[in-house]
Amino acid sequence: MILRNPQFGLKLLGVRGSRPVSGQEFQIYGGQTTTIELTGFGDTRVFLDAGTGLLNSYQNSKHQSNRWKNLHFVITHTHWDHVIGLNQFPPLFDENASISFHAPTSENGTFESLFERLFSSEHSYFSRDQIKAKLHFNVIKPRIPFQINEKLRVEGIQVNHQAVTLGYKFSVGTKSVCFITDSAPLSNKCILGQGMQEASDLLGYEAFEGLYHSQMIDFINGADLIAYDTHFFDDKVKPDWGHSSPKYAIEICKAGNVKELVMFHHAPEDEDVLIKKKIEEAEALMLDCNFSLVAAREGDEWTLASA
Ligand SMILES: [Zn+2]
Ligand SMILES: [Zn+2]
Repeated sequence: MILRNPQFGLKLLGVRGSRPVSGQEFQIYGGQTTTIELTGFGDTRVFLDAGTGLLNSYQNSKHQSNRWKNLHFVITHTHWDHVIGLNQFPPLFDENASISFHAPTSENGTFESLFERLFSSEHSYFSRDQIKAKLHFNVIKPRIPFQINEKLRVEGIQVNHQAVTLGYKFSVGTKSVCFITDSAPLSNKCILGQGMQEASDLLGYEAFEGLYHSQMIDFINGADLIAYDTHFFDDKVKPDWGHSSPKYAIEICKAGNVKELVMFHHAPEDEDVLIKKKIEEAEALMLDCNFSLVAAREGDEWTLASA
């Protein structure tokens, strides 16, 4: 693990994919869905996605209400496991809170329009009118970087997952971490992302696949840490589900010269014992790799050393 520099770090609040799970079988790696906090920005708090890990974190620190006033959410996509923590999230109802959402838009609508629907009476017993926090909606376009504050730079890239799903790179100075939480390999010609089939038709499949890979490798190049989708075991990949396995994650990290791979988005069926098995299988593929590998565990934290 990379250590030191109190000004930039990350904490895993939820590492589970698809849906939350609980029980003795999930005690080690945790059952909350995707939520990661980028730490080290004072009163400004920055989260990647808003799964059930967000609500759990709030519940554990609600006595520190002043720490929930100035929030930024960088959203990969709006599958339920990534946004369900917004349901009944108390700071939304706090008139003294300021909450910014940075998210891609798709042909299904902007994140703002999806947010409005989340608080329609079909989905919530709270109405939109009861939300008193000051909300800001920022549309993120792939490969156009933006700053959350003067220190933290964020850039998105479209990945092979349903609708428009972005992977992200967060950078402070020379240090960077990447999150590719939900993304399938392009093998088997299984193209899932909005607009990607059209690009493949235009370029030809092989040229499109080559371009996609080279852009992804360029995007993650030299990252100090990458949390990558390893939802499936290598021999059980379902290509149209939109997820990867350790073998592919390792190949990408090797090509991108990353320093640490965090296996992420554990399948809800994967009890602790199965995640350990997946790690063992992954380690067997690491023979000529010069980066480290761990499985994401709820509560784990990293702090990045400054250059
Ligand atoms: Zn997911
Ligand atoms: Zn998803």
